[in-house]
Amino acid sequence: MRNARGSLMRPFPLPGSASHPVTTPLSPSVVYASETPDALDDQYEGRVHGYTYSREGHPNADVVAATLDALEGAEGGVVTGSGMGAVSAVLLGLLKSGDHVIGGNQLYGRSLRMMKEDLPRLGIATSLADPGDVAAVRAALRPETRMVLVEVVSNPTLRVADIAGLAALCRERGLLFVVDNTFTTPRGFRPFEHGADIVIHSITKLLAGHSDVMLGYAVARDPALNDRLRVFSVTTGLTPSPFDCWLAERGMLTFPLRFDRAQASAAQLADHLAGLPGVARVIYPLRADHPDAARAQALLGGQGCNMVSFELKGGRQAANAFTRAAEGLSFAPTLGDVGTTLSHPASSSHRALTPEDRAALGLSEGFFRVSVGLEEPAALLDVFTGAVAAAVPAA
Ligand SMILES: *Cc1c(COP(=O)(O)O)cnc(C)c1O
Repeated sequence: MRNARGSLMRPFPLPGSASHPVTTPLSPSVVYASETPDALDDQYEGRVHGYTYSREGHPNADVVAATLDALEGAEGGVVTGSGMGAVSAVLLGLLKSGDHVIGGNQLYGRSLRMMKEDLPRLGIATSLADPGDVAAVRAALRPETRMVLVEVVSNPTLRVADIAGLAALCRERGLLFVVDNTFTTPRGFRPFEHGADIVIHSITKLLAGHSDVMLGYAVARDPALNDRLRVFSVTTGLTPSPFDCWLAERGMLTFPLRFDRAQASAAQLADHLAGLPGVARVIYPLRADHPDAARAQALLGGQGCNMVSFELKGGRQAANAFTRAAEGLSFAPTLGDVGTTLSHPASSSHRALTPEDRAALGLSEGFFRVSVGLEEPAALLDVFTGAVAAAVPAA
């Protein structure tokens, strides 16, 4: 727009259209202008809905939150700039000095770090326990325990938590039961239907699905807790970028299709790997030889997840030969991408552990975790057949 003096002034009016776009517009605006102080009052007092400053909220984040709310059967969830942002909002936004929290002993690496380093530094005591063993979690309880944080399927050993037992324990003791549902996704598992009080996601993984966005999400069953999560996120600047939210929305439109395809391929791959002579063992929750098969079947309703772990015969040398020969598969420590990715815990996620601690978890130099993507299943199985044969030629 030009003013009377002919200088350029914002806003430039958009060309009118009798029709409307079919995609959500991207709104990168940091600030939102109001007409009058009275109009701003109406917004702040909640009499009308409106945005003010994008750290406090913006349309693209609200679209992502509404999508996740619908997937989880929840209301009022908060979107954060990464999955760890969501973990931080829950742990730091809801706990206080003097509290105690129990975490699963195989949580995501940075969540573990927060339990071991950051929370204790702030006066919040922490314990780790096996979430598959309710007696072990019960033994870790203290009078100050406020929260239990677990993942449904552990990384990379794919053990399944005793969600029913933990939910009952948390209900009995009045603890907040927090479930990081990243691996299982709301298509595989809906924690609120199993007694969870709070659900966390790294949207970065399967939900957005293309390895080009980092985002997280946290939602509580109790609206008062959602308010606290929101205020903490706004105050500490965990707010996501509109562009990332816009990309995530696009990714989530195909999430159910991608999940179904990836988990079906994962089930096939698990059985295929089990038949290869170079493979010492395969871990997949829905296989009959998995130690938690019955629990996985009950919790995941016949859907697995897209993750398969396996152990190659031969050590680091075989592992090197395998990633070299696995043409078209990225050796990269992420999961949930459209392409299949390989993670080698001994050299990445679990490299800080001592060899003895890794051995206790069964993480040998031949151990790989596979995040199965969307390749043609037959072609994918062929790549694994070839790469395993190249890595373990004697077998
Ligand atoms: C990746 C991941 C996170 C952290 O998410 P970011 O988006 O990478 O910050 C948290 N929990 C689990 C289970 C994850 O896999």
